[in-house]
Amino acid sequence: NFDNEPNWLRGLNPPQREAVLTTEGPVLMLAGAGTGKTAALTARLANIIYTRKAWPSEILAVTFTNKAAREMRERIGKMIGDAVEGMPWLGTFHSIGAKMLRRHAELVGLESNFTIIDTSDQLRLLKQLIQAENLDEKRWPAKLLASLIDKWKNKGLMPEDINAGESEAYANGKGQLLYQIYQARLKTLNACDFGDLLLLNLKLMRENRDILEQYQERFKYMLVDEYQDTNAVQYLWLRLLAQRRKNICVVGDDDQSIYSWRGAEVTNILRFEKDFPGAKTVKLEQNYRSTRHILGAASGLINANSDRLGKTLWTEIDGGEPVKILGVWDGPEEARRVGEEIEALAHKGHDLNDAAILVRAQFQTREFEDRFIQIGLNYRIIGGARFYERAEIRDAIAYLRIINQPADDLAFERIVNTPKRGIGGKALEKIHIFARALQSPLYTAAAELCQSDEMSGKAKKSLADLCKNIARWRDEAGQISPSELTRMVMDECGYTDMLQADRSAESTGRLENLTELTRAMEDYETLGDFLEHVSLVMDNDNAASDRSVTIMTIHAAKGLEFKNLFLVGWEEGVFPSQRAMDEGGLASLEEERRLAYVAITRARENCTIFHAANRRIYGQWTSSIPSRFIDELPDEHIEMQQSNAGGASLWRANWSENEDPFKHLSAANATRAGARGPGWQRAALASNNASDNKSYSPASSGSGGTLRDSDFYRPL
Ligand code: ATP
Ligand code: MG
Repeated sequence: NFDNEPNWLRGLNPPQREAVLTTEGPVLMLAGAGTGKTAALTARLANIIYTRKAWPSEILAVTFTNKAAREMRERIGKMIGDAVEGMPWLGTFHSIGAKMLRRHAELVGLESNFTIIDTSDQLRLLKQLIQAENLDEKRWPAKLLASLIDKWKNKGLMPEDINAGESEAYANGKGQLLYQIYQARLKTLNACDFGDLLLLNLKLMRENRDILEQYQERFKYMLVDEYQDTNAVQYLWLRLLAQRRKNICVVGDDDQSIYSWRGAEVTNILRFEKDFPGAKTVKLEQNYRSTRHILGAASGLINANSDRLGKTLWTEIDGGEPVKILGVWDGPEEARRVGEEIEALAHKGHDLNDAAILVRAQFQTREFEDRFIQIGLNYRIIGGARFYERAEIRDAIAYLRIINQPADDLAFERIVNTPKRGIGGKALEKIHIFARALQSPLYTAAAELCQSDEMSGKAKKSLADLCKNIARWRDEAGQISPSELTRMVMDECGYTDMLQADRSAESTGRLENLTELTRAMEDYETLGDFLEHVSLVMDNDNAASDRSVTIMTIHAAKGLEFKNLFLVGWEEGVFPSQRAMDEGGLASLEEERRLAYVAITRARENCTIFHAANRRIYGQWTSSIPSRFIDELPDEHIEMQQSNAGGASLWRANWSENEDPFKHLSAANATRAGARGPGWQRAALASNNASDNKSYSPASSGSGGTLRDSDFYRPL
């Protein structure tokens, strides 16, 4: 009889209850998509707080995105009311890491107001260091060094931990040295990068026993969602913190491990029981999210992976349509069709907020954006980074950064001559030399330099004005709101004038973006708070206010669910990505398949998969063939449809029945696909094979039309 039970337990099934009520000792919830892992984790948090086992400030709870943290906070609020106030340690690894590091910054050689630099600042800095070492940047690109350093940081390695073999990967063994120089340089800038947020934390805990013990004592309970995607440094940090009380609950799904390219190690979840002997393992098998067809399609697909624990999943949600597979002629038609389907849903009274388009790589969003703008369909791109990456936004933020933190040299360099004020390369060089001599930040050096006789003329006056302005804006920052400050700065520094003078359509958009920026800032009380937010917006925050359809990468959609789901670009070379097909071998393909599994399992009621027969990739038209993942979906759960335009069928006549159209697939799959034999698959293939029947490479039929790695690497 559950009549009198607390509301956070209501509706939970027996294993979920077990996970909620087993508060003491390590708990592992290992279960498939949509089985209520996150729901149970949330209830567990509510239970701990409500039963006074710990104060909210004594719980460490890690979510994968800021959005997920917000949602969790809201849900707990609904369950137990105000008691949720002040859960300072609920957030992403990055946000928790940043907060903790600020408290003890001096112990790792930083000040508490340190800047978190982003990827492009990181690259700029590395470029300078590479040049200073007299290395050929063409041969040893900054990007390569950045990815190595990230990799080391994800593994929890400080410069002194890099062995000769690892170091060899960059500039004949200079990798370690450059890593070391980079870290030292960051310190003098009072800055750190994303990797440092955890790495320096780990160092802090390892080197300061008293502080470690303080946190081990404080965190009576620890909870981690999406544990399968933690990397080594996150894992080591969690394990250290949990060592004393061992009340740690982690949840995850090995089939949804999709971040190995960012250093995530699925073995972390597999060895949890070894790390924490006596851990209670809870299995959840009922899926509450998806219809039978959707779950059946997803399960059939993931079955093709060899490297998995394997688990049972079932659902009681009957009815619904099979997963629709729609072949279209090209990218624009795909966007048109998706637009039509969404409009049709809207006419039937569906909520646009409950529809999403998931892409494999960022570049795929543009086609949909163009189309939706054209037809006036509201959409939002989840992944604030896109907005904050726009040049004018980055300029504005650089101004705010230098106002907030005078040692922020990267910000200073960005704005010193933007808008143009006659401070050219020569002047900047002088500032650099002066700063080195004084051992001071660029801004401080500039402020002194422009008082001296070292400079003259326009540069001197402009620089003096700029430095004076920055000092004045810094005073203002304490008096007025961040958004007022931004308006003031952009007006007074000449940026607004610059954009207004430029009458192109583009500059209108830029002014609107700046307005949007000040709008976004209205939620923040201090400049520091806002800048902290900006540093972390790589997590998906930029929601539109209206009802709108969501466009995002599959990576960013992890943990979310949508009633109506559109999966686009399911073609060989797009999904699975060309990179996974070319170099990765089986492991990469299996990760791509897990990604496909994550994609399908986001759908509650309707799931439509699109593939186009032709794509324009970096200006080249190439013909494509449907993804092998389409072919791996069980027949009984899918329904094939042809596009109205019927594009692909043009080639059907040329196709000879005796040829094997699926030589790129495994033999077993080929038979099934061949038996299915709809015109669209063969047709698309035929266009490719017309010139070369033996080998097939989807992106190579045009010359040079391959996708770049980076297109697949960053989730929105
Ligand atoms: P993913 O692996 O995708 O992160 P998950 O295991 O975290 O999925 P949740 O997002 O927690 O699953 O839950 C999926 C859906 O099922 C949600 O809509 C949730 O509200 C619902 N749900 C969870 N548990 C129950 C339950 N016991 N009864 C009814 N609905 C439930
Ligand atoms: Mg979840």
